[in-house]
Amino acid sequence: MKSEALHQLFLESSGICTDTRKITKNCLFFALRGDNFNGNTFTQEALDKGAYKVVIDDLGFHKNTGETILCRNVLEQLQKLATFHRNYLKVPIVALTGSNGKTTTKELINAVLATSFKTTATAGNLNNHIGVPLTLLSMSAETEIGIVEMGANHLKEIAQLCKIALPDYGYITNFGKAHLEGFGSLEGVIKGKTELYAHLQKNNKLIFVNANDPQQVEISKPLSKYTFGDSNQDCYVALKNATGNVIVQYKGADIKSNLVGLYNFHNIAAAIAIGDYFKVSAEKIKEAIEGYIPQNNRSQIIQQNGHTILLDAYNANPTSMMAALENFKQAEGHNKIMILGDMFELGVEAEAEHQAITDYLAEHKFGKAYLVGENFSKTETTATHITKHRDFETFKNALIAEKLDKNTILIKGSRGMALERSLALL
Ligand code: ATP
Ligand code: MG
Repeated sequence: MKSEALHQLFLESSGICTDTRKITKNCLFFALRGDNFNGNTFTQEALDKGAYKVVIDDLGFHKNTGETILCRNVLEQLQKLATFHRNYLKVPIVALTGSNGKTTTKELINAVLATSFKTTATAGNLNNHIGVPLTLLSMSAETEIGIVEMGANHLKEIAQLCKIALPDYGYITNFGKAHLEGFGSLEGVIKGKTELYAHLQKNNKLIFVNANDPQQVEISKPLSKYTFGDSNQDCYVALKNATGNVIVQYKGADIKSNLVGLYNFHNIAAAIAIGDYFKVSAEKIKEAIEGYIPQNNRSQIIQQNGHTILLDAYNANPTSMMAALENFKQAEGHNKIMILGDMFELGVEAEAEHQAITDYLAEHKFGKAYLVGENFSKTETTATHITKHRDFETFKNALIAEKLDKNTILIKGSRGMALERSLALL
């Protein structure tokens, strides 16, 4: 079916559904395939539950009736429809990618822009080849700016997401050691993330650049950009304090955020600069940043049973782990303790990267460290302030035996480690 005709059906529907457990009446159901399922097998169920039409690529499970739209590949059809819709609405799109901080920055940008525009932003972390089209298709005729998070764990992925979303503005949060398994090296990461720049440059579009980050400055040299930082930039924004909640200065006022960690200064600064570019007033920017509360175990401060806990258990990779440790080292607080979990998806670098963290902790003695997971348990150290635990169960027993009292505690590890489970023990 031609994109235009499918788009007409989309406009007549109540929206897109890809999961029969979440069908809404009159939706357009896309029978996507995953590693362990084939959406085509759920077509009848989708219709029984009230779907308006179903888009399928396998007639083996359903007759070709008035409700079915047969195509060659459901995923490609979804992506094409998303691009068509994006062009139909002509909404300016701000895209962001990077190794760390995409979701946090996306939420902050959305908080700032939503004070003055009708925005549509990526829901949660839906940042891949399915999430990006779904984000675009969630934009309506009222949407004035779209904010799209793009994630990648291998080369050419961002280029493909750009082809789908056709962004007008772009920001790369940072280049770090995340997803090394798929990118091969830090050079691979830079190449992968800058596919966003390549797309924007080719189409004469604008990038936002954090001028406090020498790597970003260097890489963006030939590009058309709007810069931010604490010297002579298009948008002046400076760090006032990062030992507790991050405080930044912008247009003569102090903005006190609810985020901790120096890295969040960069995320906040990016959101301020993008608001500044779109002419959001300084008062509204301040209000939006101060009103933003982090969620989902990302950089949260929790007071519990006399402890001050920095819960950053949403994710970890060598770059974000080092950033969190450097920050924790300098942060205020007594009886510092770290509960650190394995970092996943590092491929052949896993052993060296976990050893590097262990060595750093052995050298800088700013608190006791509990290292949890297979990878960490294989590292070598003679430091007595570091203990290693193969899995969460053995760590749990050690922690309970310790009977901690009034500590400042950092919790960080990869998502799969689910270290937020430690909270119940503290
Ligand atoms: P994902 O790859 O899961 O989409 P993301 O890039 O969206 O991750 P966030 O969810 O915003 O990133 O943050 C994840 C973690 O990364 C945070 O909890 C924090 O530890 C770290 N982090 C956030 N911002 C930065 C930054 N600018 N530089 C380094 N680390 C950061
Ligand atoms: Mg994310």
